[in-house]
Amino acid sequence: MVPEMSEASRSRMLDVARAAVVRAAQVTRAVQHDLDRVKVVTKDDRSPVTVADYAAQAVVAHWLQQELGPVRLVGEEHAAALRTDDHAALRRLVVEAVAPVWPEVDEAALLDAIDLGTQDPDAAGFWTLDPVDGTKGFLRGGQYAVSLAWVVDGAVELGALACPNLDPDPAHDLTTPGRGLLAVAARGEGARQAELRADAELAPLAPPGPSSDTIRTCESVEAGHSDHGANAKILEAAGLVAAPVRLDSQAKYLVVARGQADAYLRLPSTKGYVEKIWDHAAGALVATEAGRVVSDFSGRALDFGHGRRLEENRGILAAHPEHHARLLAAIRKLGFG
Ligand code: AMP
Ligand code: MG
Repeated sequence: MVPEMSEASRSRMLDVARAAVVRAAQVTRAVQHDLDRVKVVTKDDRSPVTVADYAAQAVVAHWLQQELGPVRLVGEEHAAALRTDDHAALRRLVVEAVAPVWPEVDEAALLDAIDLGTQDPDAAGFWTLDPVDGTKGFLRGGQYAVSLAWVVDGAVELGALACPNLDPDPAHDLTTPGRGLLAVAARGEGARQAELRADAELAPLAPPGPSSDTIRTCESVEAGHSDHGANAKILEAAGLVAAPVRLDSQAKYLVVARGQADAYLRLPSTKGYVEKIWDHAAGALVATEAGRVVSDFSGRALDFGHGRRLEENRGILAAHPEHHARLLAAIRKLGFG
């Protein structure tokens, strides 16, 4: 049995999670603005995302531990490579990146903080973190997210999602970087959003209803992550006219939660690929708590109780309830479910 969490500790944990992703996003933003210098220092085109990933995981892990005591964290990154002599320059860059929000940091503390994220899930409760979700978007200067969630007994209880390049203005073009948006959600208590600042006031996420015979969908930019052809077939079979917007990261869940898109469809294009929990936990809760339905392609709820991957789920469908039913029927008809 999992002990009931008191309301006070739930809301305190959500506040801490919010502050953690805001601080991490401050760091990732600075690295994204400095892509060229990072590439030069490390002579590696992919190193900016590496610096940002490590830095964001360290900041979140350190903040959770400082504010809440010992934490169980399941993060995407670990520091094994960063500990080697080969990566001394990269290590220094990560320390430099983290310092504005964690001034006392040194290399040893940094590495230990990153490795707090190497723990295993536990039904009694664990945090899961994607420090930079949407790596490719991050490198393109596009959408990415810092995603943190608290999971108990297979269900996401709390979620905090920072989308540094989404704009608070719903009319802002989604493919053009905006000012930064934050969303938080607690299971059964709704979702809220604010500009991506520590002191910004949160407002309830209450999106408008769906558009009727046309549908605005969103999907991955990367054809290797999500089968664009399958999505087009599903929409056609559902009798819906759509022009999908392609975005990297869990920003897609927030876009659906805000009503800027009616649906997010994701069927992995790689045979046998199983989704990682940190790619969905916070985003799925935000969308659900904003009144959207999130399921897999069989209509089953996402089950976060099977380790680091969504072993029991295949395909992701997040949509307004009306669209969800219609799209799920099309998915079944086509045999994708
Ligand atoms: P997105 O930005 O929505 O395309 O998703 C980014 C996430 O896709 C990354 O965080 C990866 O964990 C995940 N990913 C990596 N490889 C694959 C794959 N072959 N199929 C589906 N997702 C993947
Ligand atoms: Mg990810």
